Amino acid sequence: MSSSWQSHPPYSNTKKDDDLIKYHASCYCGLIQYVIYDEFPVDSTYCHCHGCQILQGAPYQWACIFPKTSLYFTSGLDSLEFYNNSENTQNHILPCKVRCKQCSSPLADEGRRMWLAFPQTFKEFRASETIREKLKPSCHIFYGQRTILGDFLKGDGLPKFEAHKNKSKQILDE
Ligand SMILES: [Zn+2]
Ligand SMILES: [Zn+2]
Repeated sequence: MSSSWQSHPPYSNTKKDDDLIKYHASCYCGLIQYVIYDEFPVDSTYCHCHGCQILQGAPYQWACIFPKTSLYFTSGLDSLEFYNNSENTQNHILPCKVRCKQCSSPLADEGRRMWLAFPQTFKEFRASETIREKLKPSCHIFYGQRTILGDFLKGDGLPKFEAHKNKSKQILDE
């Protein structure tokens, strides 16, 4: 069954040359597979907000931001599941969470133009320290909502914003 979201990026993107692939991403069970053609994300952040903590099942979320036009899905479009938190619906309303129907692992947060990928889903991320360095976060956001584990990141040298990047007060990093 095809829905209207399938006719928009990143789902409608055309395949590029395999040599241009920088990252291979997949959900835990492997049903969903996609590739990214950009080496460096537009930005990379750690988000400590309550929503990320609960929906991610983690003390904070690490997201690497890529334009939706830089992706190509190689399999699993039928296994995608969406969640828009402001409407509390699984309809594809942006921005939304994207995960696998089968294994429930979170793949990304989908914005209007940007795709906030979770780098733990990249094969290359797990294999190489050099790659992890390329994807390194520029800052912490919603650090005001951090858990006790977020406190372990104090002194890592990255700016720590109480809420949105460059739009909220910075929390002293000591
Ligand atoms: Zn899966
Ligand atoms: Zn968040």
